[in-house]
Amino acid sequence: MIEEIFSIDLRVSEKLAVKRHRHTGDKSSSRRISIVSGIHGDELEGQMVSFLLNEFLTEHKDKIKGIIDVYPSVNSVGIDSIVRNVPPTDVDLNRVFPGSPEGSLPERIAYALVEAVKGSDIAIDIHSSNIFLMEIPQIRISEENADSLLPIAEKLNVDFIWIHGAVTVLKSTFAHTMNQLGTKTLVVEMGVGMRITQEYCYQLFDGIINLLVQEGFLDLDLKFSVRKPIVSTNGTVHFINAEAPGIFIPTIKHGNWVKKGQQIGKVVSPLHGRVVHNVLSPANGFLFTLREYPVVYPGSLLARIYEEKNG
Ligand SMILES: [Zn+2]
Repeated sequence: MIEEIFSIDLRVSEKLAVKRHRHTGDKSSSRRISIVSGIHGDELEGQMVSFLLNEFLTEHKDKIKGIIDVYPSVNSVGIDSIVRNVPPTDVDLNRVFPGSPEGSLPERIAYALVEAVKGSDIAIDIHSSNIFLMEIPQIRISEENADSLLPIAEKLNVDFIWIHGAVTVLKSTFAHTMNQLGTKTLVVEMGVGMRITQEYCYQLFDGIINLLVQEGFLDLDLKFSVRKPIVSTNGTVHFINAEAPGIFIPTIKHGNWVKKGQQIGKVVSPLHGRVVHNVLSPANGFLFTLREYPVVYPGSLLARIYEEKNG
């Protein structure tokens, strides 16, 4: 069933509506899981994952237990116009949670989403980085929730689980708000903004189906062999930034293990025909983020590498 959880008339004969596809199964279970995407309008991987899920769940509706809700595009006008923030306000929706029923437009959308998802046992918030960085399928969870979220994250077929220190957790995000309210909420980051990386979408789709089976939302006898993710429990995440302005040309594929001193790419000056920054790995580790957008300035993030403690 398609349901509208929020709607408002915008200025220019345009209507903003946030919708979900609710799959209601066997009433013997009162459990609910919510899959959310499109909080950022320029992140499109979640569109394909939502399609795959809604297609699959519609085909297997007799196998569903409890409620599975899919919210493909929370920032629906942003998705339609491929802008990250909420038009016409230019506010980042993931910085105004828990929102407010009487606040600005983004605050009202945030509030409506929290009210709709509240009470779910589990929520998955699908993001796809931004237009600058390509991310290997990964889950980011905060240290304070790691014990309860890690067992869920490990079922989702991702390559990497990044446990953030408490200080880096943004309090105004959807995930933080929902975790505070008792819904176990995971953030998935994968791919790159404004594009769909199909292999990652299929990978996460398999992971979500696996989770639905394992958590008893789907009564299917599917034997998935999901990936065993690298978990950043004891290691260090290295950030590699550009040292000079220019054009970044990667020389290795991301999602690979790299050696200390190995070349990751180069920043070049097209005018001078010169390499201005030979980008080398600072450690033996796993390259899970790689710059996609070629134009860089000093300080631009080029890559992130996870070094295991004994790596
Ligand atoms: Zn995002």
